[in-house]
Amino acid sequence: MARLALIAIDGPSGVGKSTTAKALAARLGWDYLDTGGMYRCAALAALRSGLGPGDPGIRDLMDRLRIEQIGTSFLMDHEDVSAAIRTPEVTRLSSPLSADPRVREALVPQQRRIGERGGWVVDGRDIGTVVFPDACCKVFLTASIDARARRRFLELQAKGQPAEFPAVLADLAERDHRDSTRDVAPLRPAEDAMILDSSDLDLGQVVTAILARHQRHGG
Ligand code: C5P
Repeated sequence: MARLALIAIDGPSGVGKSTTAKALAARLGWDYLDTGGMYRCAALAALRSGLGPGDPGIRDLMDRLRIEQIGTSFLMDHEDVSAAIRTPEVTRLSSPLSADPRVREALVPQQRRIGERGGWVVDGRDIGTVVFPDACCKVFLTASIDARARRRFLELQAKGQPAEFPAVLADLAERDHRDSTRDVAPLRPAEDAMILDSSDLDLGQVVTAILARHQRHGG
């Protein structure tokens, strides 16, 4: 299989995929695609339409949805929804909604069209397994649930958002379980992915390890 010049970063929630992907894209002069942001846009659109996973209207809603990522901002039908897609309500819905096959059938082809010419760092849950199985460099970034919950809790505190550590931990555990046990595109490492445990690594160490892998594997 010809290898695509693309770095796929998959892994559970709160592991630092997007921070890592942005740093890698900046180092390589590549673009960054946040597929989780696209599922979040789908969840925001569903909330606004009063629809949930499994509702018959989801397919039609997905067909009408126009999502654009410009830098790290998201536009939905030309409206800047960058802040609206990060609310707890949207976060909660995005995981069950992304398990609806009709949502994935709409978004995966868009992701492939964006990245098909290469020069992208793409993060998500199924990038190395489903969306770009031909990516030249695949990384499954992981960390203990305690390390991820601690980081998420500190992030929320820094933003001045009220949070309780046990609730943050329970939310991550629930999302991990749902993302890895769903029927379509479950969260799992691709066979040829490097598994990188970042529990005791800082961002610089994670980026260096991935760049070394990328240089060995070409692209
Ligand atoms: O990565 P982020 O937390 O922004 O993703 C939001 C939700 O979208 C996740 O909880 C996950 O269930 C879903 N997702 C997915 N496949 C992707 C990216 C995200 O199912 N490639």
